[in-house]
Amino acid sequence: MKNLRSLRQLLASAGIVLVATAPLAFAPVDALAQQAAPLRHFDAKGKPPSKFTLDVLERSRAALPFGDTRDFDEQKKGFIAPMKDLKIRADAGHVAWDMERYQFLLQKDRYDSIHPSLMRISTLNMNYGLYEVVPGIYQVRGFDLADVSFVRGKAGWIVIDPLTAAETTRAAVKLFQEHVGKGLPITAVIYSHSHGDHWGGVRGAVDEADVRAGKVQIIAPRDFMQHTISENVYAGNAMNRRLFYQYGVLLPASPYGHVGQGLGMNIAAGASGLIAPTRVVEKDIEEFEVDGVKMVFQNTPNTEAPAQMNTYIPGMKALWMAENVTGTLHNIYTLRGAPVRDPLNWSKYISRALYLYGQEAEVMFASHHWPRWGNARIQEVLRGQRDLYANMNNQVLHFANQGVTINEIHNVYRLPASLQQQWFARGYHGSPEHNSRGVIQRFLGFWDANPATLIPLSPGDSAPLYVEMMGGAQKIIARGKQLHDEGKYLLAQEILNKLVYAEPNNQAGKDLLADVFEQLGYQQENPGLRNSYLAGAYELRSGIPAGTSPNSSGPDVIRAMSTELFLNFLGIRMDSRKAEGMRFTINLVTPDNGEKFVIEMENATLTNLAGFLSPKPDLTMTIKRTDLEQIMAGQKTLEAQIAGGALKLDGDASVLAKLASTMVDFDPRFQIMPGTKVRDTGATKALPYEAVPRQTIAE
Ligand SMILES: [Zn+2]
Repeated sequence: MKNLRSLRQLLASAGIVLVATAPLAFAPVDALAQQAAPLRHFDAKGKPPSKFTLDVLERSRAALPFGDTRDFDEQKKGFIAPMKDLKIRADAGHVAWDMERYQFLLQKDRYDSIHPSLMRISTLNMNYGLYEVVPGIYQVRGFDLADVSFVRGKAGWIVIDPLTAAETTRAAVKLFQEHVGKGLPITAVIYSHSHGDHWGGVRGAVDEADVRAGKVQIIAPRDFMQHTISENVYAGNAMNRRLFYQYGVLLPASPYGHVGQGLGMNIAAGASGLIAPTRVVEKDIEEFEVDGVKMVFQNTPNTEAPAQMNTYIPGMKALWMAENVTGTLHNIYTLRGAPVRDPLNWSKYISRALYLYGQEAEVMFASHHWPRWGNARIQEVLRGQRDLYANMNNQVLHFANQGVTINEIHNVYRLPASLQQQWFARGYHGSPEHNSRGVIQRFLGFWDANPATLIPLSPGDSAPLYVEMMGGAQKIIARGKQLHDEGKYLLAQEILNKLVYAEPNNQAGKDLLADVFEQLGYQQENPGLRNSYLAGAYELRSGIPAGTSPNSSGPDVIRAMSTELFLNFLGIRMDSRKAEGMRFTINLVTPDNGEKFVIEMENATLTNLAGFLSPKPDLTMTIKRTDLEQIMAGQKTLEAQIAGGALKLDGDASVLAKLASTMVDFDPRFQIMPGTKVRDTGATKALPYEAVPRQTIAE
C-alpha cells in the first residue's frame, strides 16, 4: 500500500473515504463492503491476536468485576425510542455519523482482538436513541461522542450540551421532538464546558436570529469563550496529527481496528459552529432561573477543561456533572496533546459537588455515558471519582518524592484495588499509564534527572550506532522475531524501534515492528492506547496518506479567536529562519472593537503587545475586526481587503510582503514513524495570513 490511490481503495473497502471538504478528513461512508466481511482483517499484513495476547485478555477478564452489571441496567433505563437511521448525513453530502460500521460489536459477546473491558464499554456506547432520565429530563445518546440533554422549562426546552456537529444535533432534536418534545420551542442552551463536542452542534438546535432577538438564552461557564479554541491553536497542527493516533482516525471500524472511543463511539464529522453565550456564570456558585427552572451553577475551572461548570436542579433533585464525572477515568494527560490537567483540583470540585448537592440528589447525569439513580449510587460514584483523581495525584507524587521518574512511573503506579473493581474508574479515556506520567510531567517536567537523558541525541542520530553495535539489521530482525514469538513485545519494540530509526526504508523491520505494535494494541483496555498502537502499525505497513487537508475551522470558530491569539499564532506559523535580518514595526488598529496592537519583527521573532502603539511605526494598518476575520478565515486575501478599501495602510506596505514571505503552511500529515511519509500530492495551501486552527477539541 505504497501510494495514495491504493490507500484510498483500502479505506474505501473498509468504509472510509478521503473527503477534502469534510470537517474530518476521513469520514465514514457506505459500509457495504465492510458489512459483507466485517470480521476479516482490513489490512493484508494484519495478524490475529497471538496466544500471548489471548492470555493477557483472559487474565484481565478473570480479574474484572463482570458480576457488576449496574452500568447495563442504568444505560438501558428510561429508553423511549431508537434512532431508525444508522447514518446521519452531513449537509456537505458525506456521512457525518455512522452506527452501521460498529454493528459487529453487537453481533458477538467477545472478540479475541478486543480487550474484554474495552468491549464492554463499546457495547454500552452502542446505545443510540432517546432516553428519559426522570420526567422532565431526557437525553439523546449515541449520536456523537457526547450526549445531548433536554430539560423541561416553563415555555419550552432547555438544551444542555449540543453535540459536535449541527447535523447530528438536528437529528437528535428531531427524534426528541417526535416522541417527547411536543413541538415546544428550545428556550435556552447551556454549554457545560469549552470542548467542541459540547457546543459545536448549537446551530442544529437553535437559530442565531432567535438568540439575537432574546428568544433563546445561551449560558456558559466563566471564561468559556476564551478557552473554546485557545487550547488547540498554538500546537494545533501537531494535535491534529496526533488525533490520527489517539482517535485512530485512519483505522477502519473492525475488531482489528477502531472499536470506539471510550467516551462514545466516535466524533461526528459534520459542520461545527459556535454562538456566543448571552449569559456567563461568573461567580463560583450562581443560582438563577432558566425558562422558569431554578438552577444552581457551580463553576469548576481547570478540571476536565479549563472552563467548565456543574449544574444542580433542586426542583428535580437532578445533578448534572458535565464532564467532571463520567463512567471512566478521564484524561489528566491527553495523548493528542494539551496542557496537563490538575487532578487534585478536579477531585476537590467533585468533592464540593458531593457535599453541596450530592447529599440530596436523586439522579446524576453527565455529558457522556448514562445517568445514575438513587442517592446511594450517586454518592458511591462521586466518592469513587473524587478518590480516583486524588489518588492518582497523591500516590504518583508519593513515588516521585522517592525517586520514581517519568520513565518508570507507569510501571510502578497502580490504582487502589477497590477502585480497580469499579467500572467507572476503568481507563476508557485516561489510562493509569499515561495519566501517571502526566502527573509527573505537570509537577517535574520531562527530565528524569539522569544527565544521560539531559541532552540526548535525536532517535534518528543515535539509532545507527545501536544497530551497528547490535550487529546489523539481520541480527536485530532475527532477535526481534524471537522476542515477538515469545510474546515479549515491549522488549521487541525496544530493538526494532532502533532499527526503524536507523533504516527507515527497511520494510521488513517496519513490518515486524508493526506486528509488535498490533499485539500491544489488542492488549489495551484504553482506546487511545489501542488506537495509537494500531495507527502506528497501520502507518508502518502502509505509509501515511497525503493530499487532503483536514480543517474544521468554520467562520464561527475564527470569530471566537481573539486578535491577540491570531497574532501569537502568526508568530508560530512564521519560520524564524526566513526572517533573519528583518526589522519592522506595525501598528494594528481595529476601530470597531477598540483594540490596538504594536507588532514588531526583530531578531527573527514576531511579537505583539495589546493596548500599545509604536510612535514611529513602519506601517499602520486600520481594519475592522470583522474584516480582519475574513482574512483569518481565508475567505479574502489581505490584498483583496486592501483593494476593497477595508484595510487602510499608512506607511511602508512592503513590510507585509516581507512578513508573508516568512509564513509556512503546516503539513497536517507530517511523519511520526520513520519511513512512512508518502509523497504529498498537493495539499491545498493556506493563505499567508489564514488562522488555520484545524480541528476543535472534542473530549
Ligand atoms: Zn466531551
